[in-house]
Amino acid sequence: MALKEMFKKTTYISIERSQALKSEKAVTPSDNVPEGLWMKCGNCGDAVYTEDVENNGHVCPKCGYNFRIGAWQRIEMVVDEESFVEWDRDLVTSNPLNFPGYVDKLTALKEKTQLDEAIVTGEATIHGQRTAIGVCDSRFLMGSMGEVVGEKVTRLVERATENEIPVIIFACSGGARMQEGIVSLMQMAKTSQAIKKHNDKGLLYVSVLTDPTTGGVTASFAMLGDIILAEPGALIGFAGPRVIEQTIGQKLPEGFQRSEFLLEKGLIDGIVKRRDLRETLSEIIRMHTAKTDRINTYEHYLRKNAPIAAIPLKKNDTVSCWNKVQISRSAQRPTALDYINLIFKDFIELHGDRAFRDDGAIVGGIATVGGRPVTVIGQQKGKNTKDNILRNFGMPNPEGYRKALRLMKQAERFNRPIICFVDTPGAFCGIEAEERGQGEAIARNLYEMSGLKVPVLTIVIGEGGSGGALAMAVGNEVWMLENSTYSILSPEGFASILWKDSKRAAEASEVMKITAKDLKELGIIEKIIPEPSPASEDNLSDIAGFMKGYIKEFLALYKSKTKEEIVEQRYDRFRNF
Ligand SMILES: [Zn+2]
Repeated sequence: MALKEMFKKTTYISIERSQALKSEKAVTPSDNVPEGLWMKCGNCGDAVYTEDVENNGHVCPKCGYNFRIGAWQRIEMVVDEESFVEWDRDLVTSNPLNFPGYVDKLTALKEKTQLDEAIVTGEATIHGQRTAIGVCDSRFLMGSMGEVVGEKVTRLVERATENEIPVIIFACSGGARMQEGIVSLMQMAKTSQAIKKHNDKGLLYVSVLTDPTTGGVTASFAMLGDIILAEPGALIGFAGPRVIEQTIGQKLPEGFQRSEFLLEKGLIDGIVKRRDLRETLSEIIRMHTAKTDRINTYEHYLRKNAPIAAIPLKKNDTVSCWNKVQISRSAQRPTALDYINLIFKDFIELHGDRAFRDDGAIVGGIATVGGRPVTVIGQQKGKNTKDNILRNFGMPNPEGYRKALRLMKQAERFNRPIICFVDTPGAFCGIEAEERGQGEAIARNLYEMSGLKVPVLTIVIGEGGSGGALAMAVGNEVWMLENSTYSILSPEGFASILWKDSKRAAEASEVMKITAKDLKELGIIEKIIPEPSPASEDNLSDIAGFMKGYIKEFLALYKSKTKEEIVEQRYDRFRNF
């Protein structure tokens, strides 16, 4: 059955938005919002001024609850004024099951909501940047997906693929539309395959999940974004909470299936406040379409900047290897995020492995340096006890490595260089880490990193502990801070295995060749970043300054290499060991 033929021929039309907007009001799930000056918040139960809610982006001024909003309100809040051009407004369902009363119900809903279906799609600009955009509307049969919603999403994505522009979809849906039965189910595959084609062309898709996103929409286009954002407190899941409670015969815990829960479980990249969505989406698009590369090639770079002379390390370096081990582990030592925030601009942190959990021991995201988008990933230690627990003392679990790999593959897709900061005593040794395949996760990173078609730079800033460090250090170049270490295992472990005496750790550190100086001499690393005195808050900006200069040089140098050269050079680098 060629569904496409059943739809009337469509044209691009721009409709009178103000008229549609008039029919929209903030709605709460309880649906019993009094008209007029006051409304009742569906979350805190307080009466609030309707005007205050509207002025606050339809967020409760008392408790921060995000009221459900209509598609046109959303479009108005996110895109440039007057820039939206609607697509495919006049599609109508063929009522494939001849479901009794369905067409009448739709007619009444159209009248009531001034919508033609449960999604509005079209093209717009955000801060002048073109994007295709689709917005679901929960007022229309709970935003459920029948053949029209599926077709509109598919056409939106296909047209974006043709025009080589990004796609943004605001999802909110009860799932597939029951009145259209199996045809609704097919929309899940139809929309997903369109997104695959868009993806294959190297184009960006950002999915924004709003309250509620469930069922067949969650299990198709909503969860397929390169970047998945959510509004605070949104209900997001495959099965609805009531269905789950009935199935398992238990009450679900507070907060289950809410945005914050999904973030913790590694399923979404981040939660963005409604008022920040426009700017965040704009930044994300900008970083994925930035053509302004101020540094073209290394030659161009050299014309403008002299190469940075290697800064001589301190002569008569009397700091013992064991001292360096202690310095590298010091709680005063700056962490990955300290360097990231000083070296890069506009860092947007992305979370999660999309499978199990967001690992606090690894942070990552997109940022720019010298105007160029890059992916930055770091092993992150804590600054205090609470933070250390969150960060697991910088010891990643398998899901941390899987998050890092996800971000690296994303970087490769969008041709962004990758910069990794290594600072870990080692991968976490624990029962659950083994159950989830710590070894497999590390091995997978080594395997996949070897083939990345973008330049990879790794900088060891503190401890480079064993395989846990190497899983982020299959780089085209590996650099070390002067007082950092990089080793097969800790000196304590080494002494314990070889000499059955972990107390001989200091002695072990002298023979293990783990300092930056030793490793440079052995040809294991390319560069040592000087520390005028051991890195601390006081000299952090100086050290970050050296790093930034070197990183820009690295990016300029690798800019002139082809993808094949980049992969081959990395392969040879490790082949020679
Ligand atoms: Zn409230």
